[in-house]
Amino acid sequence: MTTDAYDELIKRWKDATLLASSASLLSWDQQTMMPPGGIEHRSRQMAQLAGLIHERVTHPRVGELLAECESDSELTADPHSDAAANVREIRREYDRDTKLPAELVEEMAQTTSLAEHEWAEARAKSDFSLFRPWLEKNLELFRRAAECYGWGPDEEPWDALAEGYEPGMRARSVEAVFTPLRDDLQDLVSDLMSGSRKPSTAIAALSLPIDAQTAFVPKIAEAMGFDFSRGRIDPSVHPFCSGSHPGDVRITTRYAEDKFFDALGSTMHEAGHGLYEQGLPPENNGTPLGSAVSLGMHESQSRMWENFVGRSRPFWQWCLAEVNKAFGDATSHLTVDEVYEGMNTVRPDLIRVEADEATYNLHIMVRFELERALMSGDLDAADLPHEWNRRYKEYLGIDVPDDARGCLQDVHWSAGLFGYFPTYTLGNLYAAQLFEKALEDMPDLYASFERGDFSPLKAWLNTNLHAHGSRYLPAELCERITGKPLEPEPLLRHLNTQLRPLYGA
Ligand code: ZN
Repeated sequence: MTTDAYDELIKRWKDATLLASSASLLSWDQQTMMPPGGIEHRSRQMAQLAGLIHERVTHPRVGELLAECESDSELTADPHSDAAANVREIRREYDRDTKLPAELVEEMAQTTSLAEHEWAEARAKSDFSLFRPWLEKNLELFRRAAECYGWGPDEEPWDALAEGYEPGMRARSVEAVFTPLRDDLQDLVSDLMSGSRKPSTAIAALSLPIDAQTAFVPKIAEAMGFDFSRGRIDPSVHPFCSGSHPGDVRITTRYAEDKFFDALGSTMHEAGHGLYEQGLPPENNGTPLGSAVSLGMHESQSRMWENFVGRSRPFWQWCLAEVNKAFGDATSHLTVDEVYEGMNTVRPDLIRVEADEATYNLHIMVRFELERALMSGDLDAADLPHEWNRRYKEYLGIDVPDDARGCLQDVHWSAGLFGYFPTYTLGNLYAAQLFEKALEDMPDLYASFERGDFSPLKAWLNTNLHAHGSRYLPAELCERITGKPLEPEPLLRHLNTQLRPLYGA
């Protein structure tokens, strides 16, 4: 009987994801609490768990059960029913985990780990020639992986890899959104740079004690609705969010005396991810229906809170008073306008992770175009620095002085993460389109921010997005919520409306 097959499939899947949630907690511990002496033992623990998870996820019985469920037309009749969605998503993961031969998986793990090491060295010496052979090895391996996954008639190798990060994402559809976005962003940035005024730089001079920052930022996460009885916030070198269950979501942030606004921004970013994890239906934990839909949609949640809330004027009309309560004389000279303008400063620069909201997406487009060409063979690894620098000049108007601040700045290609970059910009695009719809549904939304009340936005996201888990594909979910497929206009409207007045442009 198929229901028996479905029940067994779900039981096996929950068993595997339970192990994965333990691995996730160990990984959180490694990045926040573990003493340096624990690293060797920890890597053995992680390797053992990875092996056990892989064994369960790729067990031949899972394949048999999937086939049985798929052949039952009644079970999967409604493509968005609980069973159909779970079967579809388990099939996706099972196929990705079983299609690669074990030797290839092993070779990829070994090569990327060496490549990451060599990349760090090459970056430190700012010498692309040291990394080039490793990039070539990675490209060769991941092209083989793409062939194992396969791609459709109108698709390309890049698509096969990107599918692992954003189900349904294809290079061609990314290009269709990115190209008009790129043209308009270039115009916007160039207009801003030649505008008649400059935003205030008053916040750049601020220096605030770290213990006071550490006491302050959780209050903002709490105001957003992050539930500390079901989550924690701790410091780490690189901020991240890891959720093992909606009842236990860990976020991290980082502090520096002269970077209070970065600590606040990264806390709001990670708390946005955290709200998604806490908002997933606990009764579906361990199944696709209890899991976030994609990296791009996850990123939309973090960027909505960081950028659309945290860089808005109404937010600062409330938050500056809170900041003054916490830091007293150190911040009391600042006006709402000075903070708002400081938070929205635009400057074309070299480093992606330090980029502002307007230029950030241009950094991503450079990477998307290059990795797509590298993967298809249209671009030789040897020509990467030249092509990188040429695009930075064309899109951002800046000269790249060396490879460390050029094509060696990101870890992704050394780690084999081809097809990952666009999810960052998809996050911005989804955030803009969703936020526009939230404003339409709740015309008083900004007024609630002025009062420090973020519960209407959180409730809206909980109901419209978080509660669905992976029931819909990301593109379907976007269309279901906003009534439209993903388009570049909402992000452009947001950036134009917010930034042009600050620059008199
Ligand atoms: Zn993020």
